[in-house]
Amino acid sequence: MIEVKNLTKYYNNFCAVDGINLEIKKGEILGLLGPNGAGKTTTLRMLTGFFKPTAGDIMVKGISILDNTLEVKELMGYLPESAPLYHNMLVYDYLCYVAKIRNIKGDKIDSRLKELSELCGLSNIMHQSINELSKGLKQRVGLAHAMMNDPEILILDEPTSGLDPNQIAEIREIIKRIGKEKTIIFSTHILSEAEATCDRIVIINKGKIVADDSTQKLKNRAASGSTINLSLYDVNGSDALQILKSVAPDIEVSKKESSEKGLISFEIQSSTSKDLRKDIYLKIKETDWVIAELKQESQTLESIFHELTKGN
Ligand code: ADP
Repeated sequence: MIEVKNLTKYYNNFCAVDGINLEIKKGEILGLLGPNGAGKTTTLRMLTGFFKPTAGDIMVKGISILDNTLEVKELMGYLPESAPLYHNMLVYDYLCYVAKIRNIKGDKIDSRLKELSELCGLSNIMHQSINELSKGLKQRVGLAHAMMNDPEILILDEPTSGLDPNQIAEIREIIKRIGKEKTIIFSTHILSEAEATCDRIVIINKGKIVADDSTQKLKNRAASGSTINLSLYDVNGSDALQILKSVAPDIEVSKKESSEKGLISFEIQSSTSKDLRKDIYLKIKETDWVIAELKQESQTLESIFHELTKGN
């Protein structure tokens, strides 16, 4: 459905999106996850044809967005982070206005508005002024706007940003409902958001993809790994790193900041759930190091996210 090839965007000399490649299948709900400043909005704006890439291309149903921006835009609905609404209009009048801009003919407007009001839960607020609505309701009106021409692809930039937990749950439900028929790409910096709604999660950091997998596989990956926190007194950090790395072939050892003088902390990550504490203890027993802490924590999707996006 969508093929993103080497997508790159520079703002002057700053590279905000750095050679992203993606293939998005019809009917997928894809979560673009990353910390603030990772390049999510820039990527979505290029996907919707609002920004021209510095390099690369996006093919939608085989059509290049560079050559046929308007044709591709017709296939998409876009909800930016803050829905661009006319606040002094009634919801009904505003959506009628959007319908006319979208070339929906007079006799079809009411039936389309009815469908959208059911889909987005607007029935009780159709005759309220937009400026009286809560942020969650405004977001739902924005969603109806983005869906007006029944696009095959829906692109949502942080659709739940600034909403309370009930409003978040409502928007999630709507996304899931819409996702049964449409391809949806939405950005978020909230992991639980992506986990709850998406079939597939793409994590970006500093403009690059650092993970791209089905939500279930990422969860399995998290469940199969473990992290050990180790703190030692009076060791030479680089010698200790070498020795600890020799405990097992499939581990990664990194030194962490430690606030206590004379104490050096390490994080030992394993891609298996095997408990390595005994092996680590036996290795340390061969030295004169003193253990202050040796603790195993099971890995979560959150720890994978932090690991992949640290340093941002
Ligand atoms: P995200 O949506 O993940 O928070 P953005 O795509 O908004 O990230 O921004 C990515 C990076 O590009 C950030 O460092 C941001 O400061 C920078 N950036 C975004 N828009 C502009 C712009 N118009 N001019 C210059 N730098 C920008």
